[in-house]
Amino acid sequence: MEIARTRVDLDAMIDRSRPVVLVPTMGALHDGHASLMRLARERAGADATLVVSIFVNPLQFGPDEDFDRYPRTEEADLDVCKREGVDLVFAPGVEEMYPTGVPHALDADPVTVHPGATADILEGASRPGHFRGVLTVVAKLFGLIRPDLVVFGEKDYQQLALIRRLVDDLCLRVEVVGAPTDREPDGLARSSRNRYLDDEQRQQAVTLSRALRAAQERASYGVPAARWAAMSVIKGEPAVELDYLALTETNLSTPPDYPEPGSEGRILIAARVGTTRLIDNMPLVFGGGG
Ligand code: AMP
Repeated sequence: MEIARTRVDLDAMIDRSRPVVLVPTMGALHDGHASLMRLARERAGADATLVVSIFVNPLQFGPDEDFDRYPRTEEADLDVCKREGVDLVFAPGVEEMYPTGVPHALDADPVTVHPGATADILEGASRPGHFRGVLTVVAKLFGLIRPDLVVFGEKDYQQLALIRRLVDDLCLRVEVVGAPTDREPDGLARSSRNRYLDDEQRQQAVTLSRALRAAQERASYGVPAARWAAMSVIKGEPAVELDYLALTETNLSTPPDYPEPGSEGRILIAARVGTTRLIDNMPLVFGGGG
C-alpha cells in the first residue's frame, strides 16, 4: 500500500492502467468505512486500483463546529486500509488541497461548488455552507484522482443525494455507488463522532435508530402515524435533543400525508446527545394500512 501526500506523489503512484475506484473519508476510520472499502473492491473487481482519501476538510465545518477536535487517528486508519486491501491512500495536508487558502467566505476568490436548493434543507439548514464545502472538496478529489467509480455511505443520505446531483449536473462521468449504513449490534449507526460519547450517552444514542425503526413499522399507516411513532421514542429519552426529524420522498422532497401504497420514502434524524451531534436515516415503505 502506498501513501501519497501531494498531488505530485499521487500522479507518480496511481496506477491508471486499471480502473480506479475511490472511497473518500475524513479518517477516524471504523467498520462502516471498512464496509465501503469492501463494497468498492467488490464492485470494481480484484484488479482495480482501490484508493482511499483521508482529508478532514475545513471548508465543510462551520465556525462553531468540531474541525479542530475532529478525531485524527492516522496510524490506525492506515492499518484499516492495509487490512482491506487498499492500494493507495491519498492523505493531503490542507495547503495541498487549498493552496491559496480555505475559501470560507462566499466572495473568496477560488471557484467553489454552489450545491443548489437541496443543500439548504435538513443538514444544510442546521449547517449553513456545509454542502458547499463537501461538494467543493469532492469535485477537487475527483479532479485529482479521476476515479471511474466512487462509493459513499447512505449514512449521509443528503450528502449522497447531492453528490449524485453534482455528478449529473456537472457531467463528471464517474459512477456513484451508495453503500448501506453499517451499525453497532444495538442499532446505533457507526460514526467517527461516536467516540465522543461517554458510556451513558452511548446508551442514550441508540434512541435515534430506535425512533427510525418505530417509524418504519408504522409507515404503512401513512406519514403522520410514522412521525408520531418516531417522536414518541425520542420524547421517551430527554437526554436526546432533537435538531430535526423529517419524513421525505426518496429524493428528499415533502411527501403527501398518505403516499401511494408501496411507494418508498426516507426518514432522517439529527440530534445532540450531550455536545455530540449525531445523524441517521432509514428507508420507509408507505401505504397499505397494514
Ligand atoms: P466520513 O469519514 O464521516 O466523512 O465518512 C466517509 C464515508 O463513509 C461517507 O461516504 C460516509 O457516508 C460513510 N460512512 C460513515 N459512516 C458509515 C456507516 N456507519 N456505514 C456506512 N458508511 C458510512
